[in-house]
Amino acid sequence: MIYFDYNATAPVMREAREAWLHVTEKIDGNPSSMHQAGSRAAIALANARESLAAMLGCHPLDIVWTSGATEANNMVMHHFAKKLGAGGEVWVSAIEHPCVDDSSKHYFGKRAKTIPVTRDGVIDLDWLTMELADARPGLVAIMAANNETGVIQPWREAMAICHSYKVPFFTDAVQYIGKMPCKGLGDCDYVSGAAHKFGGPRGVGFLKIPHRSHITPLLLGGKQEGGRRAGTENVATIAALVAALEVREKQIARSEHLLRKLWRDNFEAAFLRALPAASIIGQNVPRLWNTVSALMPDGDRKLQWVIRLDKAGFAVSTGSACTTGKEEPSHVLSAMGYKSAHAMRAVRMSAGWETTEADWDALLKAVVKVHGEMQQKA
Ligand code: PLP
Repeated sequence: MIYFDYNATAPVMREAREAWLHVTEKIDGNPSSMHQAGSRAAIALANARESLAAMLGCHPLDIVWTSGATEANNMVMHHFAKKLGAGGEVWVSAIEHPCVDDSSKHYFGKRAKTIPVTRDGVIDLDWLTMELADARPGLVAIMAANNETGVIQPWREAMAICHSYKVPFFTDAVQYIGKMPCKGLGDCDYVSGAAHKFGGPRGVGFLKIPHRSHITPLLLGGKQEGGRRAGTENVATIAALVAALEVREKQIARSEHLLRKLWRDNFEAAFLRALPAASIIGQNVPRLWNTVSALMPDGDRKLQWVIRLDKAGFAVSTGSACTTGKEEPSHVLSAMGYKSAHAMRAVRMSAGWETTEADWDALLKAVVKVHGEMQQKA
């Protein structure tokens, strides 16, 4: 099986497995316990917090460990719902992951206003600038890179605009972290991340909050994480998260991703030559180097592509993993102005740091073969 679904989840790196094993074997205590075993766990946790904070560019105590990005993103919306009260409003981009989108609607209903995106899937900065001149939401939420299209959002510019109006800025950086340098993310007021998107284990993530401030806990109970998130920290998976991100940050600093981008671009060019009726979503705007979001030429059966490519030995996806299985047009493509019939043809191929040029070549051959089979059947 050649794996092209890194945006859904990435294989766990050796360094992350080793870090997990080390803590699991050597550090027994609960980080909140007063004895020596507890202190050892607390030190490992503090070290992990410091390392992540250094990579993001924030204070260690700005980090709250969570069970993943879904929890972190829900925490933000829950906190602002409590803080802003009945009249509060949040502005949320039209292409957010459902855990931001649904939780904003859950807590704010119609007071969650949608920030539109262009046809290329980039948030509309002119809209943001114009609207902020007239109104002040309690929070603006714009993801750093989209999970379905890979389109990188102008989060730095959006943050600067928000900050010029003293509006807090939240970015879901789940797809961005580990694929692009973390530098600068610490300047955002709220940032969420999930280890399993960058080679760490599933079920662990974090929320970066502003300047050691308080956040209304979503989970109540113990006073872990400075009273901001109850529950014993999973020190081993947290250590593995940091180990994986350290590897990725070093690889990115060596610009390894630029060669990988070239392989992806070569794939796209050859793909469009072979299937001229297909198109690539967001091809004209900055995108993550690993993602191909293609509108396939054949019919409206995107699941057919996934199933046939799976049989041929390639794991690809119809979009975000959370909507897989429901053959529905994606809200992201709808927000970009694609009609349902078009959006139903979207297939996402997302590579990673272990993908080789030969893997891309093999995928191209498989896509061409499946296209031939589907045409014969039609
Ligand atoms: N945000 C984005 C952009 C994602 O792609 C995902 C996962 O697909 C999530 C949030 C949810 O992350 P987790 O699986 O850690 O809860």
